[in-house]
Amino acid sequence: MVATLVQLCNVEAFASCEWEELKGTHFIVNFCKDDLSFAREILREAEKNYSRIAHYLGYARYSNFWTWEHRVKIYIYPDRRSFSQARKRPQWSEGMADYTKKEIASYAQSKNFLETILPHEMAHLMFRDFVGFQGEVPLWLDEGVAQWAEAKRRQEVKALMRVFVKRKTLIPLKRMMTSNVRNVTNRNIFRVYSSLRPEAAPFVMRGNNFVKLYYLQAASLVGFLIERFGTERFTNFCRGLRDGKALREALKSSYPQSVSTMEGLEAEWLQYIQQE
Ligand SMILES: [Zn+2]
Repeated sequence: MVATLVQLCNVEAFASCEWEELKGTHFIVNFCKDDLSFAREILREAEKNYSRIAHYLGYARYSNFWTWEHRVKIYIYPDRRSFSQARKRPQWSEGMADYTKKEIASYAQSKNFLETILPHEMAHLMFRDFVGFQGEVPLWLDEGVAQWAEAKRRQEVKALMRVFVKRKTLIPLKRMMTSNVRNVTNRNIFRVYSSLRPEAAPFVMRGNNFVKLYYLQAASLVGFLIERFGTERFTNFCRGLRDGKALREALKSSYPQSVSTMEGLEAEWLQYIQQE
């Protein structure tokens, strides 16, 4: 019964959509016939983002890995409802990347698509293409890389981080290493011992706020590694993870001694936030 209902909903949602394709060098945009101008804009932005992200991740020399039959497919559904039904995403979701099929999906009226979702999901795919699935890649690195690709948010990330440092309410790096925030809900309560005030009692956060702060810190950490030490070291670090090095080992072989331990990394990162 449920399956029939879902099928009926899908038929209804796609009744008015005739899918068409627009092909570029690295992408194929699939869109409903009426959204041609949006699809053109997406293709233009995607190609622009491709070189920008490859450059800041230091992957420029791998610039041909998404051509011809390896092109990434972007699917633009006509509206949020058809997107979330077809891709089995929660109602609040605005976009997604499928790492194995190399697909990005969102919907036509999404106002955040071009500036936020597209670069974010592209960076996830490019990062995964490079580091693979075998190595020890922490969630903060994966999400940090994707958020740093949202160039327009960088200043906001820096400003917010300064506020949290001032309040001394940051999640310690060690805690970030072991937190899996993917399944957190607002019912979860977190007690966090701030590394900036180790003698104080823990501060308490609801799940959603913990996740937001975790994401913010992830973006800031990746920004710190790239801005302070350059893309070459960052690529080296990612290559180390890809080749099976543990995180600490990869840090050690790519970065100066002062940031080659978790404690050193955290201390220099906190300094960078205050100086920026
Ligand atoms: Zn993400």
